[in-house]
Amino acid sequence: MKETASGFIAKSTIKAADLEHRRKINFNIGKYNAVVPKGKEQFSDVNLAREKAKNIKWKAIETLDKQLENFEAAITKRGAKVIWAEDAQQALEAIYKICEEKNCKTLVKSKSMVTEEIHLNDFLEKKGIESVETDLGEYIQQLDGEPPYHIVTPAMHKSKEDVAKLFAEKLGTDPKATPEELTLVARVKLREKYVQAEIGVTGANFIICDIGGIAVTENEGNARLSCAWPKTHIVIAGIEKVIPAMNDLALFWPLLATYGTGQKLTVYNTIVTGPRQTNVQGTPYGETDGPEDMYVILLDNGRTNILANEKQRESLYCIRCGACLNACPVYKNIGGHTYAATYSGPIGSVITPHLKNMGEWKHLSYASSLCGNCTEVCAVKINLHELLLENRQQAVEAGHSNFAERMGWKMWRQGMLHRHWMNIANARTKSWVVNTMVKGWKDHRGDMQFPKKSFNEMWKEKYGDR
Ligand code: SF4
Repeated sequence: MKETASGFIAKSTIKAADLEHRRKINFNIGKYNAVVPKGKEQFSDVNLAREKAKNIKWKAIETLDKQLENFEAAITKRGAKVIWAEDAQQALEAIYKICEEKNCKTLVKSKSMVTEEIHLNDFLEKKGIESVETDLGEYIQQLDGEPPYHIVTPAMHKSKEDVAKLFAEKLGTDPKATPEELTLVARVKLREKYVQAEIGVTGANFIICDIGGIAVTENEGNARLSCAWPKTHIVIAGIEKVIPAMNDLALFWPLLATYGTGQKLTVYNTIVTGPRQTNVQGTPYGETDGPEDMYVILLDNGRTNILANEKQRESLYCIRCGACLNACPVYKNIGGHTYAATYSGPIGSVITPHLKNMGEWKHLSYASSLCGNCTEVCAVKINLHELLLENRQQAVEAGHSNFAERMGWKMWRQGMLHRHWMNIANARTKSWVVNTMVKGWKDHRGDMQFPKKSFNEMWKEKYGDR
């Protein structure tokens, strides 16, 4: 078994038994579940809205090359520089080069899963550049030295008492401070960093291709500040974030808000179409706000592998609302950190083997009951549970299954094709085989006790050979 898989099983075993952990995330997911129906009320037909969003993303992804070229042409016209990064290394090198040019010592960043994906903070720390998370949840996680726990709510696994304790340890605040008091402390600390920072880094919730802009959605105003306050703004976005037109936001913004946090609209929605314009047509003066330079790094990092895979391609429609994580019975028990991947939950299990390596990460696709709850709640109707099955098939086809597994399935197939074989052994023999011969069966289960008569025998007794 690969190290990633054995680590996952070990961590899952511990987390699944951690009732306090389960209580905290169930509490937070419970709050989410209570508000999502209210958000949905804004749609006259929410399923139609999801279907429409899926169609728009289908169009965007099927014409991805064209969309990205349109985006590049339009945003370049307004003075931004577009950088294409094939992998994490290229993206990091590009960011470092900009940091060197700008003599950057401090960088503020808003919440961005792509920066987690390329491990930007670790990289910058090694280069002696301070990278400060400005989203409150991310700030909490950074203080604690932990990666985000959830795509949307990074500190979902922490109670307010946990946060108060953490702030007391790291920042010397009163251990009994209220969430409001702690937020004010964070605000003061972060404002200082904004003033110092030479560069602001954000992600992009959407890459808007017709106007050449990026859309950023957030609830705290920190992303808008990161875009606008420092003299240089760097955006880093996965290439799949495209939407063809600005008008599409009329659908995607409410959909993301509702499925992400149960809001009708997220508090701050910002569109950035370039750096500060010094020469605005029709006005005597240029713009007075905004960065002097803007760079947009378009990251592939395995996404074109998914694009090339006709069946898995629809996973690129994801708008990272996090709804599938909140609905997943596996995620709710083992939590986000157990996956050890940037993207956790059902969508993480679908895309991680393609973004990284199928052999190393295929085990995530097996961590599913295939109940279909993820598909049921997905904002853009991605058939997540079918894609998990598809991953399993692709893993086997690529030869990532061991001898015991292959033999087990061969025997199962023979048993299914020759039903009468199952009646040859009695109940005691069957129980013994499963309880002693099937490796791992009893690790998490009690003894299997087969009934004296099989279903087939009982059927025959009742109905004969019908
Ligand atoms: S797969 Fe669907 S539900 Fe999950 S994060 Fe993406 S859009 Fe949201």
